[in-house]
Amino acid sequence: MDTSEFGLEDFLKDLLAFGYLDGEDVAQGITRQVIDRGVESLSEKQKWVFNNRVIEEYVIEDCKLCSAEIPWEEKIGALDNGGYCSWCQHKLEKDD
Ligand SMILES: [Zn+2]
Repeated sequence: MDTSEFGLEDFLKDLLAFGYLDGEDVAQGITRQVIDRGVESLSEKQKWVFNNRVIEEYVIEDCKLCSAEIPWEEKIGALDNGGYCSWCQHKLEKDD
């Protein structure tokens, strides 16, 4: 895996760092395993939990306003701002 680009693993590290998975012991353990050994290391059951409790819950694919794809490095920010890309967030802040 190319580690020079911000990707899923970096996003997962942020997810843990910002405490999104606090109290979710199972999801947290699986997420740590993905960071260490990759999604391929998960069992079928773990993959299901990872997809349903982590990916579905926390990964925002597209911006709520302009529908642009949100890159991995902005997904944690989108989670925090309600689902906007950095461009729209900037625009919304300026309008305030
Ligand atoms: Zn946008």
